[in-house]
Amino acid sequence: MPRRSPADDRVTPGLRFVIQKHRASHLHYDLRLESEGVLKSWAIPKGPSLNPRDKRLAVQVEDHPLEYADFEGVIPEGEYGSGEVIVWDRGNYQPVGRSVAEGLREGKITFRLNGKKLEGEFSLVRLKSGGENDWLLIKAADEFASRKTVALDDLSVSSART
Ligand code: MN
Repeated sequence: MPRRSPADDRVTPGLRFVIQKHRASHLHYDLRLESEGVLKSWAIPKGPSLNPRDKRLAVQVEDHPLEYADFEGVIPEGEYGSGEVIVWDRGNYQPVGRSVAEGLREGKITFRLNGKKLEGEFSLVRLKSGGENDWLLIKAADEFASRKTVALDDLSVSSART
């Protein structure tokens, strides 16, 4: 994967994304995309993949407030989603072709991530079978794709917590 230059770490305006690794009753990764003032959210049991052949189930869950993008910590036992949360990746994204709001209606959302770990184009595609909330997350075959299913590292990008 190409290395990022220090200039890439400058804060650039744009829509935010975050992926929070969430060790709840079942470990999953929550992908959140800023859209119309909230974080549209999907829970991905296996997490994202850089391999365009991998189709990762992504279950749309409730919108979260924008402030939640910075949350790391422990959701107490007894509360919904109790367990540890780290910010696994974050950055900006650009919608490709249409906005996330339009893509949600159409059943396909394409976006380019500019994160610390994930870069390049991804699509969320709503499953025709299955529930209304079931989508697949698929990496586009661009220069950031990898044919190998690599283990993406576990550290938080904001605190180096595991
Ligand atoms: Mn979660």
